[in-house]
Amino acid sequence: MRAVTKIVSEYLGRDSGLVVTNPADGSQLGTVRDWTASDTASAVMTASAAMNSWRSRTAKDRASVLMNWHDLILEHQNDLAALTTAECGKPIGESIGEVAYGASFVQWFAEEAKRMYGDVMPSHAANKQIMVMRQAIGVVSAITPWNFPLAMITRKIAPALAAGCTALVKPAEATPLTALALEKLALEAGIPEGVFQVITTTDPASIGKVLTEHPVIKKFSFTGSTAVGKVLAAQCAGTMKKISMELGGNAPFIVFDDADIDAAIEGAMISKYRNTGQTCVCANRFFIHADIHDEFVARLSAAVAALKVGDGSEAGVSIGPLINQVGADKVAGLVDSAISAGARVIIGGKRHSYGDAYYEPTILTDLNHDMEIASREIFGPVAAIYTFQSEAEVIKMANDTPYGLAAYFYSRDLGRCFRMMEALDYGMVGVNEGVMSTEVAPFGGVKESGVGREGSKYGLEEYTELKYCLIGGLT
Ligand code: ADP
Repeated sequence: MRAVTKIVSEYLGRDSGLVVTNPADGSQLGTVRDWTASDTASAVMTASAAMNSWRSRTAKDRASVLMNWHDLILEHQNDLAALTTAECGKPIGESIGEVAYGASFVQWFAEEAKRMYGDVMPSHAANKQIMVMRQAIGVVSAITPWNFPLAMITRKIAPALAAGCTALVKPAEATPLTALALEKLALEAGIPEGVFQVITTTDPASIGKVLTEHPVIKKFSFTGSTAVGKVLAAQCAGTMKKISMELGGNAPFIVFDDADIDAAIEGAMISKYRNTGQTCVCANRFFIHADIHDEFVARLSAAVAALKVGDGSEAGVSIGPLINQVGADKVAGLVDSAISAGARVIIGGKRHSYGDAYYEPTILTDLNHDMEIASREIFGPVAAIYTFQSEAEVIKMANDTPYGLAAYFYSRDLGRCFRMMEALDYGMVGVNEGVMSTEVAPFGGVKESGVGREGSKYGLEEYTELKYCLIGGLT
């Protein structure tokens, strides 16, 4: 344990505070500071005071400090990954990948800082000029989830800092250590005190109120559930903050009878079972064309049978514990209710003998759309399989949800691919691809899956405001 927590050792206390546990075995990793609402309000003022000097540096200067941060994150890749696995249970290979993915946002936005262009527009009058400048929006706050404890922070904080904002982030109660490690490395990299602060707490609602209602904060960014996102968006309305919300999904994964089945199985495995099924872009509903259903299920089942369940820190494990027992209870509830309504278990279908937080990788068939599992985010290693006959039918079923984050489909027919890309009401569509996340593309959803985009050139805009200046008297 000492080895795992060495990077954050100075943040760990012995007594009361926020207790961090390892979901793999329930052991205690340590205790960190439990911030109060009034501590948080002071931190907001610290962020505000730090803003002027940070914003007035050149973009090139901010970029070079961010690149130091990026390099330090990668230098500590193994330590950070061990910390992530210890507090959220993610298999270690995936945690190593998350560190690289998280660092990629810091690098990308360091580069983008230098391209925060404005505009000079053709004027409406001969003696006037129109200039549009892009400026840092102000102090930024963010609340992040436990399923990507590192990358969800850098995806928000790197563009904020690149734009010249200062930022406060409240990580999830389950995963404060990775966040604190990032803060430590940021300071080491030369990011000044007060520019990036991590607020750890046992009381997300009170701290969340400060981070969404404080008038000094101009922008709020959230990744988490739709239910909490709606509450936080409403809280932001009082001071008219700009918001980004990356919320829940109910991703369809569609396989047509003209698909490359090998590719579809490979995509299904990664889209469904990555992070033990706990991502907002995980395939939640598999729609398989009736003519290939049996073959697809048999092949998926063979691949699932080969997954190794266990403590994520052990080599070769691809399915770790869920975040905690409550997470496993939720998955068990959805599966049990589907089974009692007539679903068939192809493989799995119950808790894993390894412990209370573990659930067996599962495949269910014979499902219908009235079952709770069809409309809820499963957030566990359970593939729920439905069938369809026609393209029109599957488009209707795929779009029949209030969510609109990620969708996937497999087909080798070019015309169909273009029709499907247009027809799916989602912010992101994977065409013959089961994973889409990259720092260079815009990540985000439509409908109740959220507003705003993260990553790419669009990700920087979220942390800026446009200012239009009309320069008159030129003749
Ligand atoms: P999940 O179900 O994935 O845990 P949540 O939306 O509950 O998703 O949590 C995501 C983040 O939102 C976490 O950091 C959590 O602490 C925070 N959170 C949960 N409820 C509130 C709330 N009422 N106010 C502010 N933050 C909250």
